Amino acid sequence: MRVQLKSFILLLMIVLQQHVTVIRAAEQGVEEFEFQTEVGRLMDIIINSLYTQKEIFLRELISNSSDALDKLRFLSVKDPKLTEDFKNLEIYVDFDAEKKTISITDTGIGMTKQDLIQNLGTIAKSGTTNFIEAIKGGNVNIIGQFGVGFYSSFLVAQKVQVSSKHPEDEQWVWESSAANSFHVFKETEQLLQRGTRVTLFLKQDAQEFLDEKKLGELIKRHSEFINFPINLRHFKEVEKEVVDEEAEAKRAEEKAAKTDEEINEETDEKPIMKKIKEKVPEWKVMNDNKAIWTRPKEEISDEDYVQFYKSFSKDYEDPLNWIHFKGEGEVEFTSLLYCPKKAPHDLFENYYGKSAALKLYVRRVLINEEFEELMPRYLNFIRGVVDSDDLPLNVNRESIQQVKMLKVMSRKLVRKALDMIKKMADEEGGDDSEDEDDSEESHEEEVKQKEPKEGEQHSEDDDDEKGEDKEKLTQERRDRYKAFWKEFGKNIKLGIIEDSSNRNKLAKLTRWYSSHNSTELTSFDQYISRAKENQDSIYFLAGETKEIILNHPTIQKLLKKGYEVLLLDDPIDEFTFQNLNEYEKKKLVNVGKGNFKFPEDNETERKRNKAVKKAFEPLTSWWKKLLTNDLDEVRISQRLHDDPCVIVSSEHGYSAQMERISKAQAYANQDRSNPAANQKKILEINPNHPAIKELLERVKEDPDSQTEEIANVLYEGALVNSGYSLKDPAGFAKKFYRLLNNALGIPKDAPIEEYEVDIEDDEEEAKSDSQTQSDENVDIDDNGNDQQEVKDDL
Ligand code: ADP
Repeated sequence: MRVQLKSFILLLMIVLQQHVTVIRAAEQGVEEFEFQTEVGRLMDIIINSLYTQKEIFLRELISNSSDALDKLRFLSVKDPKLTEDFKNLEIYVDFDAEKKTISITDTGIGMTKQDLIQNLGTIAKSGTTNFIEAIKGGNVNIIGQFGVGFYSSFLVAQKVQVSSKHPEDEQWVWESSAANSFHVFKETEQLLQRGTRVTLFLKQDAQEFLDEKKLGELIKRHSEFINFPINLRHFKEVEKEVVDEEAEAKRAEEKAAKTDEEINEETDEKPIMKKIKEKVPEWKVMNDNKAIWTRPKEEISDEDYVQFYKSFSKDYEDPLNWIHFKGEGEVEFTSLLYCPKKAPHDLFENYYGKSAALKLYVRRVLINEEFEELMPRYLNFIRGVVDSDDLPLNVNRESIQQVKMLKVMSRKLVRKALDMIKKMADEEGGDDSEDEDDSEESHEEEVKQKEPKEGEQHSEDDDDEKGEDKEKLTQERRDRYKAFWKEFGKNIKLGIIEDSSNRNKLAKLTRWYSSHNSTELTSFDQYISRAKENQDSIYFLAGETKEIILNHPTIQKLLKKGYEVLLLDDPIDEFTFQNLNEYEKKKLVNVGKGNFKFPEDNETERKRNKAVKKAFEPLTSWWKKLLTNDLDEVRISQRLHDDPCVIVSSEHGYSAQMERISKAQAYANQDRSNPAANQKKILEINPNHPAIKELLERVKEDPDSQTEEIANVLYEGALVNSGYSLKDPAGFAKKFYRLLNNALGIPKDAPIEEYEVDIEDDEEEAKSDSQTQSDENVDIDDNGNDQQEVKDDL
């Protein structure tokens, strides 16, 4: 019984894993399966609504072949038997104009019967709705990014046949004419030694692809940098000698007319030959399949770099920038890193679960498609390849020696990635300072590069570029960093929090909004270049929006005195500033926190402040006592101008913005012990404000309950104005209304009574209303129609 249960569970697991339903089992050797629902929906969109960029099918199928070859090459390192009898690792593209088919064949790892059912009948990745939605936008180019490239075959084919031979199985065919199902059966003809052949039976409107020139162009355009030879069927014209049948026949006729004697005389008779032209098929390699990163830079054009990026990243957009370099020293490796133009749709989904996935090669063998150990999480958008001769093929994360090697590589890769970003930032003109870290470059040999052609994009690790005249840069190059910051600014901010060793380098790359110009982003260096001579701080304030921050009471005086304040409107900003703490020896000062002092404080001012503090002492200590549960301190403010008071937090306390974030987090986590909620605050008062002066006088005499109420309302008003939330909004409103009554001269004990109305007057009014209506003779029928209008219309 137990055995039965076990096998039942096993069977159930297999069925669940497949997500495909067997419709018809083994009828004449053909099995029918239903597609997983998502596949069905996706195919429906591909077939019925995508009419442009059909040609991408070839790129996607070649890329799958290349993956299968990579996989085989990797496996054969451990198990050489896999390729012993058949070493060929290539891709073949063929077409048959009569049968109207195109086939893409590879000698890669192939698929078992089970693989065919699983890989081509289901979509493994979650979030399928995402890509179906994305593709609905009509941009089929993005298909590869979602891991469903194979289905692009249906852009051009009405029927697709995949015949595959895996080393551990016989050759099986997967076949589908879209609809909801596919068939699987054993291959009996056209046997492969190993690998996969995808045959596309073209739709009527896709016959343009039955053309050698067209296919050749497509391979060159999209798949040039595939690391395996891509062979296209080519028909070569050759001259051939054949027997001239016509001439032979004529000779035979003439022979017949001759006498035996005459014939005997012509003893040495050769067949009459003629030359004809014939088309013979042959394979022509269409790509330069040498790994691009192993080639010297002077041989690689910008276009090559861009095309290589597109072919391996499955991104259809050009990259923003790239860097190609050699790491030398403890571990030798070559790398080519790219910064994409657009952030992937799931950049911050599961941020803590993944880091940048680089393609890791060891001696040109792809050993990991997404190797995560080399780049920190915050650089998870960087794409690229790393190839080392020093690592073993089975990189072992347990081996201390290898972990050390990976760390060395990682440090260099991060530095190079940041250099690549910095070059873009420099071109924007945001940072004119020399990078002191450039000196570190010495132990690393740059891959030599040609002089950039004018107007051309080029790889950025070329020191020649330093002297380049910024004026000559194209607008596109100047705007590049803006685009970068928009897409990846958050990553850099996270980097400051997470990567202390590169903090200063990262800080140079940051851009912020500022009171100097709240619509343009500025760098720290630009801020410093505008700062006052004796200003040793960089001022900032965090809030929900730039407008709220700009109107915040705590920055009024600073702005009036001509200081610049950075406006941090992204929730992550304040965390970033806290971690950074200072930039180029200038302290980052949160204007909404601590005991703020202006830098120009001189002796007289200090004395005056002391005297003011003393004069207001009765008020500050009275107020502190009144709100002893809420306030840590009441003190004289230096930062206020128009407002009577403001709430600030202590140096290490929660700012208003942090308190809001912390509350939201606590709410999301259903955590009732939120420490931010009970934090005591500091009330700063403006000694120049008439209301504060008046309060001081009242407190000095004998503060009555009304004075207390005013003090309470001022405190709570300041809370709101400073961006904090109220503990008791209803209580605040009540106090506020009472004060309002007082301002309107209404006695404190004035009752709340029903408002008196003259009912008779009202009735008369109603009567006169109905009179007017009947005068106008407008009737409303059962359906609510205005009958008068209907009549008029008639
Ligand atoms: P992706 O290649 O991005 O995973 P596809 O929809 O293009 O998504 O392919 C689905 C899966 O089918 C692949 O992951 C691979 O396992 C398998 N596959 C497709 N083409 C081939 C091929 N030529 N050789 C071996 N396996 C293949």
